[in-house]
Amino acid sequence: MTAGPRQLRLIMELRRLGISDTRVLGAIERIARETFVPETFRDQAYEDTALPIGHGQTISQPSVVARMTEALAVGERHKVLEIGTGSGYQAAVLARLCRRLYTIERHRPLLRVAEERFRELRLHNVTARWGDGTKGWPESAPFDRIIVTAAGLEIPDSLADQLAPGGIMVIPVGERADGQRLVRILRDADGLVCEDMGTVRFVPLVAGLPRAAAERRA
Ligand code: SAH
Repeated sequence: MTAGPRQLRLIMELRRLGISDTRVLGAIERIARETFVPETFRDQAYEDTALPIGHGQTISQPSVVARMTEALAVGERHKVLEIGTGSGYQAAVLARLCRRLYTIERHRPLLRVAEERFRELRLHNVTARWGDGTKGWPESAPFDRIIVTAAGLEIPDSLADQLAPGGIMVIPVGERADGQRLVRILRDADGLVCEDMGTVRFVPLVAGLPRAAAERRA
């Protein structure tokens, strides 16, 4: 698919905001964000804003997707884990950059729609599953890269444990009201090294699974 004028304007905006990794910009240019937003918000698909996707969740802001993807330094041989599939947009961008992308979502209806999109876009290197992402994906660990697209109050131990040596994890941490920080974690020979990447605003990372009745009402 070729990018339209609005999508190209977004790429220029991302460059202006300091995103310089050409692989990341290229991946964003090749994934049509409008495919991942509900019909009613399609005219805003290439604006740099988060948009509602149902179940009280949002598709992240393009500049945040770009910044997190750049911070992750994803290589084409990497095995990557994403927590919080949501619309599937961040997963699709990552799938263009890595060998295999695993993604976990706790809202089953969101997961179903995202999986359909991965099939339509022929992103065959994506494996998605319904579950509580705070536990990670032990059967497929370790991961070269881990990205969490919902904010936890702390860094889940299971995720840190599933990060390969030399691996990088990017995760928003903190409470919404007090402001969350985007944290980049590197696993080196001595343990975990954390770097603060500034303020962000994400929906909360919620442990456990929603009740079926709540899913039907949403
Ligand atoms: N990466 C998504 C962003 C979606 S918002 C996108 O590109 O659209 C964050 C998502 O994380 C929500 O869909 C929410 O349901 C999910 N989430 C929150 N806590 C979770 C958990 N413990 N396990 C899995 N998914 C979780």
